[in-house]
Amino acid sequence: METRYIFITGGVASSLGKGIISASLGKLLQARGYRITIQKFDPYINIDPGTLNPYEHGECYVTADGMETDLDLGHYERFTGIETTRDNSVTTGRIYLSVIERERRGDYLGKTIQVVPHITDEIKRRMLLNATKQPLDFVITEIGGTIGDMESQPFLEAIRQLRWELGPQRALNIHLTYVPYLAAADELKTKPTQTSVKQLQGLGIQPEVLILRAEHNLSAELRNKVAHFCNVEADAVIQSQDLPSIYEVPVNMQQQKLDEVILRKMGVPAGAPPELGSWLAFLEYRKRATEVIRIGLVGKYDLQDAYKSIRESLAHAGTYNGYKVDIRFINSEHITRSNVGEQLAGLAGIVICPGFGQRGIEGKIIAAEYTRTHNIPTFGICLGMQMMVVEFARNVLGYSDADSSEMNASTPHNVIDMMEEQKNITQMGGTMRLGAYSCALVPGSRAAQAYRGQTLIRERHRHRYEFNNSYRAEFEAHGMHCAGVNPDAELVEIMEIPELRWYIGTQFHPEYSSTVLHPHPLFLDFVAACIPKP
Ligand code: GLN
Repeated sequence: METRYIFITGGVASSLGKGIISASLGKLLQARGYRITIQKFDPYINIDPGTLNPYEHGECYVTADGMETDLDLGHYERFTGIETTRDNSVTTGRIYLSVIERERRGDYLGKTIQVVPHITDEIKRRMLLNATKQPLDFVITEIGGTIGDMESQPFLEAIRQLRWELGPQRALNIHLTYVPYLAAADELKTKPTQTSVKQLQGLGIQPEVLILRAEHNLSAELRNKVAHFCNVEADAVIQSQDLPSIYEVPVNMQQQKLDEVILRKMGVPAGAPPELGSWLAFLEYRKRATEVIRIGLVGKYDLQDAYKSIRESLAHAGTYNGYKVDIRFINSEHITRSNVGEQLAGLAGIVICPGFGQRGIEGKIIAAEYTRTHNIPTFGICLGMQMMVVEFARNVLGYSDADSSEMNASTPHNVIDMMEEQKNITQMGGTMRLGAYSCALVPGSRAAQAYRGQTLIRERHRHRYEFNNSYRAEFEAHGMHCAGVNPDAELVEIMEIPELRWYIGTQFHPEYSSTVLHPHPLFLDFVAACIPKP
């Protein structure tokens, strides 16, 4: 089948869940046996979100091939289990960078470089790129931002052109809008949707499918009205209500026949709806898992989205362990030696979160000491692992000035240090150890047990600093062991204290690869260890 392209735009407001809708549609088409990919085009000018403050844009997700991307790619992978690549995340910055590089090389032979056609051509090229590298039936492209943003114009123009070039059967637009409820009038309002669709139409794009986000049920009458005003067929106006879990969205979309409507419009015979067997089983486990365990996230970003993948990984692991994980955020900046017991009270376990820079690290070190000395399950990820190591060096090995050279470049006890190959790189963006690398598990270690018999794993990274191997023997002699190393570079990947209930730190980020149908083994094992034993 010729590749078909589905574009998902948003109107009225941001944060309506375009990423979840894109992921859900991907899931439904995948369940029908189609080869799919989902990609995100973001109108901001950063080359990638790697340099963006998590307060601005939430977590930075990392693909296996080492691209720092928008957190929506995490949703795509968690829903479909299909790995994304650097071709699945594109920003205005990347588009301009490649056009400008080409201009500097003289590739345009003296032409004046303009938004149309040069920028729009580069956007179109990237929109089609994935399907030139692998056979794909559907490419779903989510456009970041909201219709009407000045910077999204070239993306919409590219969509308009592609729809014209590919024809209606091969390119389709889904527009997601918001239907607000006015309590005073007790009414749901469709005018913002109508206005948003008019705006799209003004740009030459007629959406074929509308998805209306609302906190209330939308009557058939209301949906017919929207269909009528927006030139959209009645059964192509679909509602997206708040649901107890994002993982129910694919099922809800299937019930409203989102996938069937799309297939029909693209001239593809639909056949019977696929059974979402293991997906439904996951939702069923989720419903049954009512008993709660409370797990603390010790980090510095007081924002839901900043640790999105960790939260989702804990939720997956909870579900498969038969528990509902109640995640409590503990701001490490507020943890002191005198209040740590209080701050961590009632937690079955803690995750010490990744991060960069000085702010909040003393709190992470104090938390690591507290859970180590109170035998509370502890999972340190990246900076979290590094702080577990620093804590151990200070309080067990007796090096009170031990530190990461990220925090104190002149410490004589640099137990976490800059990797040799990173030392000469000074630019901020993309200068880290990024993406998936192998890790050989140490046989018999706790981490190896968690991976259930696997000996060589691959996990994703995003860091500049490393465990300093010259201290390894000393750590081992005092009870903190290396449980995994990169076989090519001998870099330490996992540290653990096997004597404790669960005290493991990973230099890599396991949270990037936990999916609904394949929860991550370390999260599964960690949550299992947090469950109180009778
Ligand atoms: N700041 C640390 C480093 O660069 C840890 C990074 C992280 O937690 N992702 O090594």
